[in-house]
Amino acid sequence: MEKYLAELNEAQRAPVLHKDGALMVIAGAGSGKTRVLTYRIAYLMNQGVDAFNILSLTFTNKAAREMKKRIASIVGNSEAKNLWMGTFHSVFAKILRYEADKLGYPSNFTIYDTQDSQRLINSIIKEMGLDKDVYKYKQVQNRISSYKNSLITVKAYFNNAELMEADAMAKKPRLGEIYQAYCERCFKAGAMDFDDLLLKTNELLTRFPEVLAKYQDRFRYILVDEYQDTNHSQYLIVKALSDRFQNICVVGDDAQSIYAFRGANINNIMNFQKDYDNVQMYRLEQNYRSTRNIVNAANSVIEKNKTRLDKVVWTDNDDGNAIKVHRSVTDAEEGRFVASTIFDNKMQLQLKDGDFAVLYRTNSQSRAIEDALRRKDIPYRIYGGLSFYQRKEIKDVLAYLRLILNPKDEEALVRVINYPARGIGQTTIQKLTVAANHYKRSIFEVMEHLDKIDLKINSGTRRKLEDFITMIKSFQVTNQSADAFVLAEHVTKKSGLLQEFKKDGTPEGIARMENIEELLNGIQDFVEGQKEVADAKGDLAEFMEDVALVTDLDKDTGDDDRVALMTIHLAKGLEFPYVFIVGMEEELFPSAMSMSTRSELEEERRLFYVALTRAEKQAYLTYTQSRYRWGKLIDAEPSRFIEEIEDKYIEYLTPPLDASYRYKPMIDADIFGEVDKSKFRLKKPTAGTPPTSHKPSEEKLRKLRKLKPDLGEPVAQDGGDHNSLSVGDKVSHTRFGNGVIISIEGVGNDKKAEIRFDTGGLKKLLLRFAKLEVI
Ligand code: ATP
Ligand code: MG
Repeated sequence: MEKYLAELNEAQRAPVLHKDGALMVIAGAGSGKTRVLTYRIAYLMNQGVDAFNILSLTFTNKAAREMKKRIASIVGNSEAKNLWMGTFHSVFAKILRYEADKLGYPSNFTIYDTQDSQRLINSIIKEMGLDKDVYKYKQVQNRISSYKNSLITVKAYFNNAELMEADAMAKKPRLGEIYQAYCERCFKAGAMDFDDLLLKTNELLTRFPEVLAKYQDRFRYILVDEYQDTNHSQYLIVKALSDRFQNICVVGDDAQSIYAFRGANINNIMNFQKDYDNVQMYRLEQNYRSTRNIVNAANSVIEKNKTRLDKVVWTDNDDGNAIKVHRSVTDAEEGRFVASTIFDNKMQLQLKDGDFAVLYRTNSQSRAIEDALRRKDIPYRIYGGLSFYQRKEIKDVLAYLRLILNPKDEEALVRVINYPARGIGQTTIQKLTVAANHYKRSIFEVMEHLDKIDLKINSGTRRKLEDFITMIKSFQVTNQSADAFVLAEHVTKKSGLLQEFKKDGTPEGIARMENIEELLNGIQDFVEGQKEVADAKGDLAEFMEDVALVTDLDKDTGDDDRVALMTIHLAKGLEFPYVFIVGMEEELFPSAMSMSTRSELEEERRLFYVALTRAEKQAYLTYTQSRYRWGKLIDAEPSRFIEEIEDKYIEYLTPPLDASYRYKPMIDADIFGEVDKSKFRLKKPTAGTPPTSHKPSEEKLRKLRKLKPDLGEPVAQDGGDHNSLSVGDKVSHTRFGNGVIISIEGVGNDKKAEIRFDTGGLKKLLLRFAKLEVI
């Protein structure tokens, strides 16, 4: 152990060696907070604390795995295995399974992902006969999610006149009813959504003192990384569990708090000292990650924030190069700059692809970068976006698997009852749903008792329903003896899914087959891996537990030598030798909807601080003069954050743009998104034009505020018929024929879809104009 303690500096060693009682480490980026947490766990174990008594909460499951590996190398693998480590969601999902019966849930409850929740909310809105343009299902889902994270249960909602009035004022008086129906339906389906995993844990710990006492006694040492981004629900869980022993260690950085828009509460850090007795505070100041230039540049930016704790960050590392700033005319050119810089650096400095990361504010920016990297044959991996497990075909297979474990799972049932087609129509499903609601039973249970209820379903259809039930039940029998892989392979064949995709011989169909194959390979790997875990069976239940909460960042492909592309939000806690921060433009970063209040702007600035401090050796900032956004080519201004870096840390690769000269496209991008560059011309503004202010017009702001930061998850969007379209849908266009939707971006009237037509063409269409028909 001595040897390992020598890998820490003195300031880091103090919190590692801290005896019992509460402690908090507040320190800037790259100063070793995560390292302190890791070594503290190893040290506690070395001092005789049982691994079973330690709970450690991290931002991603991948971070937990890496910490565990490091700890294993210090204290030995067999002991490290017993540590409870992971994200809040994964740890408490596990606990909820043990205790589910207390809350009236089955222990094999399903975890609904955001898509499942949205789908259910959408159908509730329809069933209630509400106007879908007023009650937009994604907005409603967002709303319910924030209620849950603030611990506002349905009951609390109806007891809160203020909240109800606010919703009524917003012309949504029936939001509470939707919320109520949604919770009832989830409960009936034996399902919890992501937010429930925290909400129900809180319920469990408050309603059942003996359960609380059990886990308090079990988790005698609790450690939390990235404490600045915990929300209220998470805060309460930690507070409750650590109340008895108060052996709580939190590390964080107020300057890296970037999830306020999702309910993260910086006050959790600010109030920590009040929440526990005799809190010991520790500070770390030395950054080990980045060059001096990067550290100083980041400091010079974050100093502009008024709300922050005073902190010092310095480094002993070399000065390194200045931060390089590059301007281009279009985002395609920006992509080319990134790709060729990576290419050149790789050649000249003998670097790997995995040494580079490209970070952006919103997911939609990745496309131009991807195109350029592909052209140069540079391998890359996108994190976030549509994750593997959210692809349609994967969700189809998983829906069958979910049904085997929990036949009450309605979202899964509705998804596959007639997929592949077996002649069970919408009307039948409707009748079943109505009956299920009426009898307060699941659809599956209703189907099991068709002989007792007269639903006016003809005998032919009834037979089909019975066949479906028989099939699922036969899968359940197989599940009793087969491992997860054998079962999944059996299910893909017997359900007809595999044949369905085989039949489809289009490139998309083939890609789907390959994805299913990849899923099966993944399951097989999982089963193999479980053989090494004590008491594990490698069965379906174990696999589904594992899969329900994986985030894209968690996936280990074993092939990490690729350029990493991700949003800045996702990059928190990570580090890369070379980092490109692209799209450094006003209204993009800082994002337009974050410019109306100081606190929003300060959150954007913290986000920039996070981005810059991911770089070890070199940071590049790039911006373009025009960008294709919301269906239009707009001219862009360099981000204020570039100006905020002290000049001496910056090197301009291209001269900064003279503010009086700005590119103006002669025409707006046409509806196909193909801009004829020859039509650009340099336009000189007429004399006396006032300098452009940073703040967009009120009208623009109003429009933009409807957007939410794009984190790769579905966002609240405007209404419009085209909202029902989604990636993977097959559509038909009067002029271009049939095609498949590859991606969707923008909102409301500016919503666009990129479609690959069977003729081979790739087109981006504004949905407002393009009359598409789903086929
Ligand atoms: P962030 O705020 O970005 O989460 P952090 O404070 O958690 O950063 P770490 O990730 O723990 O910082 O450490 C940053 C880098 O510095 C890591 O590569 C880590 O291994 C290295 N490092 C930390 N402390 C030391 C040390 N005493 N000696 C050598 N390297 C160190
Ligand atoms: Mg960290």
